[in-house]
Amino acid sequence: MQRPQTLSELVSQLTSDDLVILDIDSTLLYTYKRNEAILKKFAQDRISQFPDFCRTLSQVDCRRGEYGYGDALKRLLLDKAEASILDNLHSYWREAFFSNDFLTHDIPHEGAVQFVQHLSHTQIPFVYLTGRPRELMSPGSLQSLLQFGFPASQGILFMKPQPKDIDEEFKSKKIKELKQLKSRTWLIDNEPKILHKIAADHPEVHLIFVDTCHSPNVVAPEGLLTLKDFHF
Ligand SMILES: [Mg+2]
Repeated sequence: MQRPQTLSELVSQLTSDDLVILDIDSTLLYTYKRNEAILKKFAQDRISQFPDFCRTLSQVDCRRGEYGYGDALKRLLLDKAEASILDNLHSYWREAFFSNDFLTHDIPHEGAVQFVQHLSHTQIPFVYLTGRPRELMSPGSLQSLLQFGFPASQGILFMKPQPKDIDEEFKSKKIKELKQLKSRTWLIDNEPKILHKIAADHPEVHLIFVDTCHSPNVVAPEGLLTLKDFHF
């Protein structure tokens, strides 16, 4: 097999004996509008507690390609606000981000819905494998995938059993099971930490990097097929 250089080449190589494993956040979906909605809700909810901070925060805009909301706070010069306010905001954000409540603010990555629909129509096996914690983000995750037009069902949506589980450990363990199912396995993910872990634990799994945003201070493994969008 020639290693695919583009998504079109990948699509033309896939058969029913492949398994495509799809990450969700910052891979198939952009989450920056989820972040923005959460910060604006905080600004509303906490206005009486932190009036100046919240008045400024209500103007916030989060942008595609930014990880988390740190850059958005910086633009408003709120990043140096009192630590107790920032801590309060962070706990609020965490609880809201990992919940069912703000998922409708996500936006599908360009071409992603059509790509997964294509897999479905051509009977290429695929599953979703996400670090979203099941107990906090189910059933919202399934609902939002379906609302966006992704073919999905509970049986092909693998979520983290416990919120405290480490994403890369969970994914590696699950991929150990999943890779038995077909002769070739592909993982499409935006997070370098996960790609490095899978490369180390399961070198036979083919990795594809989605270049949206990811946790700081780590770069994707060298030489991977890198996607800017899902057009093919
Ligand atoms: Mg991700």
